[in-house]
Amino acid sequence: MTAPADEAALTAAWRRSAPGRAPWVWALDWDGTLVDLAPHPDAILVPPDLPALLSALHQPPERLVVIISGRARESFARHLPDFPGAILGNHGAEALGLTPPDPWRAAIGEWAAQVPGVWLEDKGATWCVHWRAVDEDQRPALLAAVQQFLDTAHDPVYRARWGHMALDIVPQAANKGTALAAWLQQQVGPDWRRRALVAALGDDATDEDMFSVVAPTGLAVQVGHREPTQAAYRLPHPGAARRWLAARAT
Ligand SMILES: [Mg+2]
Repeated sequence: MTAPADEAALTAAWRRSAPGRAPWVWALDWDGTLVDLAPHPDAILVPPDLPALLSALHQPPERLVVIISGRARESFARHLPDFPGAILGNHGAEALGLTPPDPWRAAIGEWAAQVPGVWLEDKGATWCVHWRAVDEDQRPALLAAVQQFLDTAHDPVYRARWGHMALDIVPQAANKGTALAAWLQQQVGPDWRRRALVAALGDDATDEDMFSVVAPTGLAVQVGHREPTQAAYRLPHPGAARRWLAARAT
C-alpha cells in the first residue's frame, strides 16, 4: 500500500474529476475529521465558522454533505442545530431501518425480570443491555445466562458485542461503508458511481469502510496520520480538512 498523497495532489485530483460529475458529495466523519478530538465526546470545541462552512458546501441538488459518525444522531442537535444536510448516526446503523429481532427482546426481558439492575437502552437500530447496577454477586450467573443465549441465538442480521458492563446488539452490516452506499443509492440513484463525485474524509479505522466504497471512482481522504489506510490522499489535521473544504465551497 503506498502512502497517501498530499493536499496538492488531492486538489489536483479534485480538479480533474469534478467537471461533468454531479452531484458532488462530501461524506464527512465528525470527531477527529472536522473537529479536534477531545478527552470526552461532550468536550469538543466546534470552530465557530464550521456550521456556516457545512451549510455553504451543501447546495442541493448539485452539492450534498452527509455526516457519518459513530455518535448518535441526537448529539448533533447541539453541535449543528441548523445543519441542512444529512446525518447518519450510530456508524450508519440508524440508516438501515432495522431493529433487533424479537428473541433478543424476550431474552433481555427475562434477564431484567430475574436480575434487579439489568436494563435495556433502546436506541432504535441498536440496543445496549447494561448491568452496571447489578449486585456484584449476581453478575456471574447473569453473564452465564447471557453467554448461554448467545451460544445459540445466531441471527443473520444482528450480532452481540461485549462492552464494558454492557452488551451491544448491533446489525452485522452496520458500518460507515454500507451506510454511505445505501444513502448514495437512495439520494443519487443506482448509477451514483458513474454520475457523482464522492469525497470521503475520515480519521479513524471505522472510516476505512467509507474509503473502500468511494475509492474506485471517488476520493478517499485520511485526516491525520494512521496506518494502514486505503485512503489515496491525506490532510494532516482537522484544520487542514476545514480549509480544504472551504476552498471547495467558493
Ligand atoms: Mg473520527
